[in-house]
Parts: sequence; structure tokens; C-alpha cells
Amino acid sequence: MGSDCLFCRIVAGEIPATVVRETDTTLAFRDIDPKAPVHVLVIPKEHYADVATLAQGDPALAADVLATSAAVAEDEGLLGDGFRLMFNTGAYGGQEVFHVHAHLLGGAPLGPMLA
Ligand code: AMP
Repeated sequence: MGSDCLFCRIVAGEIPATVVRETDTTLAFRDIDPKAPVHVLVIPKEHYADVATLAQGDPALAADVLATSAAVAEDEGLLGDGFRLMFNTGAYGGQEVFHVHAHLLGGAPLGPMLA
């Protein structure tokens, strides 16, 4: 997608980010406004708008996003106590950046999802 997409610009190195893991196909970086002690965004480098179009368009790349998320969870010491992995999708899902991203949240009890 390129210059119109914030996360494509992070992939291109045009906007700085605190990268915690990179693979050939994915990038993981810290959320600029963290909602938990650990809050990392995991994206495919290739542009897909949301998790539905990613999963339908390239299931292997969707699996790469999950694998990178699990590796970051391990790196951040989250496997023992657990963590939350979620994809806000579309208007009702509260998605604000339309380059698919997994939110990896942990480091403290997060409470019920729907309070
Ligand atoms: P969503 O509402 O699921 O689209 O989430 C978008 C997320 O991107 C929010 O948690 C923002 O804090 C985060 N965000 C926006 N701009 C940046 C940035 N430049 N670097 C890192 N995270 C960002």
C-alpha cells in the first residue's frame, strides 16, 4: 500500500518504531500508547487491511503472524502467566489502523475481555 499506510511506513523504516522481533515476513514493535506493561503489535510486512482479508488471502502469512506473536510472548516472559492476543477488526471492532496487527498484551492481569 505504501505511503498512505502508517504501518507500511514503519516497515519501510520511514517512521521510527521500537522493533522487538523481525522475520522475513513479519515485524513486531511496541505500541506507542501501551495499554498493559507489555503491549506489542505484530504485523505482516505485506499490506492487508484486516485479519479477515489476511486469513482469506494468505493463510501461511497469517500463521507467520501467530508464530511471531508466540515468539515475542516467550521473549517477553509471558508464557507462564499468560497473555492476550487480539485483532481489532473494522468499525465495530474499534480498528483504527487499517494494516492488520495483532495486539499482544501481558505483564499484568488483564481482567475479563467484555466488562
Ligand atoms: P487499532 O485500534 O487496533 O487499530 O490499534 C492501533 C494501535 O496502533 C493503537 O494501539 C495505537 O496506540 C498504535 N499506534 C498508532 N501509531 C503508532 C506508532 N507510530 N507506533 C506504534 N504504535 C502505534
